[in-house]
Amino acid sequence: MTAMQSLDPADWSDLRALGHRMVDDMFDHLQSLRDRPVWQPMPAELRQELRRPLPHGPMAPEAVYGEFQRLVQPYVTGNLHPRFMGWVHGGGNPIGMLAELLAGAMNANLGGRDHAPVEVERQVIAWAAEMLGFPIDASGVLVTGTSTANLIGVLVARTARLGPSARRDGVGGTGLVAYTSAAAHGCLPRAMEMAGLGREALRMVPCDAQGRMRLDLLQQRIAQDRGQGLRPFLVVGTAGTVDIGAVDDLDAISDVAEREALWFHVDGAFGATAMLAPKLRPLLAGIERADSVAFDFHKWAQVPYDAGCIVVRDAAVQLDTFAADAVYLKREQRGLAGGGVWPCDIGPDLSRGFRALKVWMTLSVYGADRLGAVVQQTCDLAGILAARIDREPALERLAPVALNIVCFRYRAADGDLDRLNAEIVADLQEAGIAAPSTTTVNGVLAIRAAIVNHRTLPVDIAILVDAVLEAGRRRAEAA
Ligand SMILES: *Cc1c(COP(=O)(O)O)cnc(C)c1O
Repeated sequence: MTAMQSLDPADWSDLRALGHRMVDDMFDHLQSLRDRPVWQPMPAELRQELRRPLPHGPMAPEAVYGEFQRLVQPYVTGNLHPRFMGWVHGGGNPIGMLAELLAGAMNANLGGRDHAPVEVERQVIAWAAEMLGFPIDASGVLVTGTSTANLIGVLVARTARLGPSARRDGVGGTGLVAYTSAAAHGCLPRAMEMAGLGREALRMVPCDAQGRMRLDLLQQRIAQDRGQGLRPFLVVGTAGTVDIGAVDDLDAISDVAEREALWFHVDGAFGATAMLAPKLRPLLAGIERADSVAFDFHKWAQVPYDAGCIVVRDAAVQLDTFAADAVYLKREQRGLAGGGVWPCDIGPDLSRGFRALKVWMTLSVYGADRLGAVVQQTCDLAGILAARIDREPALERLAPVALNIVCFRYRAADGDLDRLNAEIVADLQEAGIAAPSTTTVNGVLAIRAAIVNHRTLPVDIAILVDAVLEAGRRRAEAA
């Protein structure tokens, strides 16, 4: 029997067949990535076609799927492709894709209550703590991404300094100031804005030639702020800066934090995953001493979007930052309303999806060592790319390569090099050959290749460099 308005079909066979076809098509999609352009712009008429008034009537699922195939599937970002090297995007993985289907079918709400999906998330957080060298009783939640995880880090640090009364009284006039490097991600100043502390209260300490925070200048700035009656409360180290992949000296920052009684938070958006690669792990020494770490499973760990994570050493402070006692969230000793601390007690969200399943399945199927080997492989490829650039007279490397990001540019005899290199990047993207992105290093525009994808091979590095050289020559000749 089906309720009159149930959205389930009366006869499941057609929808079941369509579902099987979708799964087959998506496996074809994953198997044929190399045969397609990395990216192609969505034609204006197709964008226009998407814009319609709210549909009041029904449309056959087959027809809607047809629209997906025609309007959406060919025009996605391209980050599954082995030659997508723009920004720091994860490549996803087939098990994660299937996990998304299962999670969608369960439609679990992970705000809280007593059910297995919450246990799965607790397990994922325990694995994250283990990866970071944190105590096993550390707390944490999955969030959309490191932007939100960093915001949580700032809020928890504020609670640690001012106590839970800050939630009632706010932060006005408290004089809290925080520190991070000039190379920190833009979401950190924004986190300070959202926390009501203001981005001016985040001191951006200059970096050394390797892109790491200058600790002498950090010390100076802390002393100067104390001298002015301000209250330093937080220092944020970066494991893998967004522009060049530099790793701060986390051990030394931890020493400073200890001496100065500051909360030590690490933005390890992609870099924290290097803990899974034995050869890279020493670079991150000191991360295990942090009070909190923000990172993404959806970047270097290849879990499909979105899957960010915050882990906090002292569970009580995270609870003090978010727990509320609304009657409709009352805990019981037995039944579905049991289960102790719920995710909604330690993060900003109430209703939350089953992100944890794709993380749990990805880690379970491949294992942490294999994911660490992927991380190592992308760093090795970055080394190959850097060596090739250093051999090519027409190319110039613009930054040291600590992990998986290589910044370089095409050199021409004369002309506006910033403009030329921006055009080269757009040429490559529009031709669908490769998708690096751009950034600015020491005031000049750089072609930035972040090797993140587990599918990338040495041949892809060669194709990228050849394409840059060719586009550069063509543009230089045309000028
Ligand atoms: C990507 C990134 C972020 C932001 O993470 P999202 O998951 O995009 O919110 C923050 N910090 C660094 C260093 C990053 O690379």
